[in-house]
Amino acid sequence: MSDAGTGAPPSAAPEHATLVRAFVNTLDVDEGTDALADAAGLSRWLASNDLLGADDEVADDDLAVARDVRAGLRAALVGHGEAAHGLLDPAEATRAVAVLDGLAARLPLHVSFAGGTPDLVAGGEGARAALAQVLVAAARSGADGSWDRLKICPDDTCAWAFFDESRNRSRAWCGSGCANKNKVRAYRSRKRAADTTAPA
Ligand SMILES: [Zn+2]
Repeated sequence: MSDAGTGAPPSAAPEHATLVRAFVNTLDVDEGTDALADAAGLSRWLASNDLLGADDEVADDDLAVARDVRAGLRAALVGHGEAAHGLLDPAEATRAVAVLDGLAARLPLHVSFAGGTPDLVAGGEGARAALAQVLVAAARSGADGSWDRLKICPDDTCAWAFFDESRNRSRAWCGSGCANKNKVRAYRSRKRAADTTAPA
């Protein structure tokens, strides 16, 4: 598919990258909420993203797998923006990605030729198949280069996963709102420092 004529910028987020971003953002650091806090939450999220049928059960061990997949994806994305490196200890990031690799080897994924072109697809059913689809989305994102544009906002009170649509992939913050918020915070902390050191 070509973007020519659609008016879309060449670096607009493809659907699979958007799915990866949304999955990572089920943990909202700013709001202090977690859509994957329990199995029911995971079930709701997967169903609302058309990854799970209404009758599919989600067990607690599916939840544990989902949370480890998310932690591994988040750790991998932290590596995409230099400014975000401070968000996660490198040893912890390496461990989380290794756990993700181990899970990817056990989730139902295979190469299919049914569509005419060999492609990585999710097999099986239920929550594991749904989580495999998230990994298929990540692999597709890796294949088309959109993966490198998925980043984590370096503000540790935000840590939002975002898609860097800039031509030279230079965007570091999730949005202008976040950058402004950060400037205000920096100004306040400078002012506090100045107030406490100023003579009475
Ligand atoms: Zn942010």
